[in-house]
Amino acid sequence: MFDHFEQRIKSYRSYLFWGLSGAVAPDTDVLYNILLDPKQTNHHNYFTHYFSFWGPLLLFSLFLLLISKKSNQYPVFFLLFSFGGFFHLMLDMVSGYIFIPAPFLYLPFGAYLEKNHHDREYCIEASIVIWALYLLIRDKKIRDYNPER
Ligand SMILES: [Zn+2]
Repeated sequence: MFDHFEQRIKSYRSYLFWGLSGAVAPDTDVLYNILLDPKQTNHHNYFTHYFSFWGPLLLFSLFLLLISKKSNQYPVFFLLFSFGGFFHLMLDMVSGYIFIPAPFLYLPFGAYLEKNHHDREYCIEASIVIWALYLLIRDKKIRDYNPER
């Protein structure tokens, strides 16, 4: 499989774009939750946070990658997008919980199953953002460093 992937590498910027878009895609439901959902239900109840949605999407994208021509980049984009979405759900289980068998059964799975512990969720997510900002600033300093100036 890696051979299929490695031979297609053309643009890391495009791969980064599609992978990150997929990683953010499940949380676009927050907009619907805030603006349109009168019940204000937990946004993890929406299909955008179902493994039964992202799992088959990931398998289908993998299938398309395997049967498509090696010069075609779209299956790579699709695989990265669906992997990003799938991985998002796995990370959501670290900071909170996901209803893995949804829409068939709304049984929560995750590190923090108790309710009213959103402060821990936010602490974990904030620490990820702070770590990313640290890496961004550190890498910018490395990129900007020029000893000949
Ligand atoms: Zn999420």
